[in-house]
Amino acid sequence: MHNDGHPSGSWYAETAAIRLPDLPAPEGAVRTGVCVVGAGFTGLGAALALARAGVPVLVLEQASVGSGASGRNGGQVHPGHRQEAEWLEARVGRDVTRRLWDMAEAGRAHLAGLVADVAPEAGYRPGLVTARHRPGGEAEDARHLEHLARAYDYPHLSLLSREALAEELGTDVYHGGFRDDGGGHLHSLNLALGLARAVLAAGGVICEGAPALSWSRRGGGIEVATPTARITCDRLVLTGDGYLTAIAGAARDRVMPINNFVLVTEPLGARADRILRSGAAAADTRFVVNYFRKTDDGRLLFGGGETYRQTYPADLAGYVRRSLLKIYPDLADVGITHAWGGSVGVTLNRTPLVAAPAPGVTLAAGYSGQGVMLAPYVGHLLGREAAGDRAAVEALDSLRRLPAPAFPGGRWLRRPLTIAGLTWYALRDRL
Ligand SMILES: Cc1cc2nc3c(=O)[nH]c(=O)nc-3n(C[C@H](O)[C@H](O)[C@H](O)COP(=O)(O)OP(=O)(O)OC[C@H]3O[C@@H](n4cnc5c(N)ncnc54)[C@H](O)[C@@H]3O)c2cc1C
Repeated sequence: MHNDGHPSGSWYAETAAIRLPDLPAPEGAVRTGVCVVGAGFTGLGAALALARAGVPVLVLEQASVGSGASGRNGGQVHPGHRQEAEWLEARVGRDVTRRLWDMAEAGRAHLAGLVADVAPEAGYRPGLVTARHRPGGEAEDARHLEHLARAYDYPHLSLLSREALAEELGTDVYHGGFRDDGGGHLHSLNLALGLARAVLAAGGVICEGAPALSWSRRGGGIEVATPTARITCDRLVLTGDGYLTAIAGAARDRVMPINNFVLVTEPLGARADRILRSGAAAADTRFVVNYFRKTDDGRLLFGGGETYRQTYPADLAGYVRRSLLKIYPDLADVGITHAWGGSVGVTLNRTPLVAAPAPGVTLAAGYSGQGVMLAPYVGHLLGREAAGDRAAVEALDSLRRLPAPAFPGGRWLRRPLTIAGLTWYALRDRL
């Protein structure tokens, strides 16, 4: 997979505003309190909580900080969970859904605090628009907004008529939608780098180019092997999302990596005024979502298209541009300056997986496209839990208790079966 560091052609890497010091791989026998595998939002969130609690923490990152999904995503901050409250209520009941919702709201507040405290360079911008790609559905949207306002005390949503949406987006291909002033967008790599900077400032250690190859229990502790070191620790926190390796064991059966792609245009110039007028980000209702936002340097960052195989399309920019031009045909003469892909971890239910593969070992992944908001907070909770905080244990329990089925098909058929299923849903977008 594409896992050797920041993708070439990434606008995020080119515009990153934070430089970290060299973070060399560990050597020989190393002792720490908690070893965290993966330096994305989850791992860095955990490491920050631990370092701030005074617990010795060492992060192993096989490539570089934020080079997984955390530093190459759409930057969209989606409140709540990937599945709507009504969907969750039907499966896990009102009380559990309310707890999950409150957790997501705590995650949203946590993210706002992180941007203010450790990563102002992430430049959070408010506003998130959902655009319906099919006619109809206005009554359902109205019911949904009303339900969230009444049952979840969430007052930030407002309906957009077809005309109001066209005015906001600068395209009339959608059929109406709604605006969420609780959501927004940010420079995700700056958030990851800001988190790493704060981990280092609090006394944590981060090692790049340091793949964790295996772990085993030794005596009362855990030993983690890398190509150059043996880390002995009391607890192990495994992250990795769409980049999970064999070290995650059976959890990999429950998190499917999916490739998703992004392009960035040259600066839009005068056209920027009529696209996403209010400065909000937007995402549509397709199964394979198109999502877009303007960057602070006046470009359009547009995500669209998924593949389920190990390889990327040969012409990545052309592949995503086809979706862009269906929405903004008049951008045909605008140059594409950057294009890249990344891997996102999804679960069958689209709710995050929090698991305990062994005593002293925790794992979190599978945010299913909701990780910009959820992953730093779930990471924070993992760190607080490892530092002995009961409230964090209880908050994580509400995720741990969710059904987390394996993808069907067993070890060998899982991938082809899931690809067939996902391809079918993706095809339905086009019908
Ligand atoms: C193209 C794209 C667009 C997206 N857009 C959005 C969006 O707009 N909004 C949203 O909410 N979410 C979005 N997502 C999803 C979001 O980015 C992720 O949910 C989130 O970043 C997951 O964070 P993480 O720390 O769990 O995983 P990652 O950020 O993927 O980090 C995992 C890290 O673990 C490392 N790793 C794995 N195994 C090992 C090992 N054995 N040893 C050492 N290191 C290891 C990897 O190298 C990687 O750096 C998008 C994802 C992609 C790919």
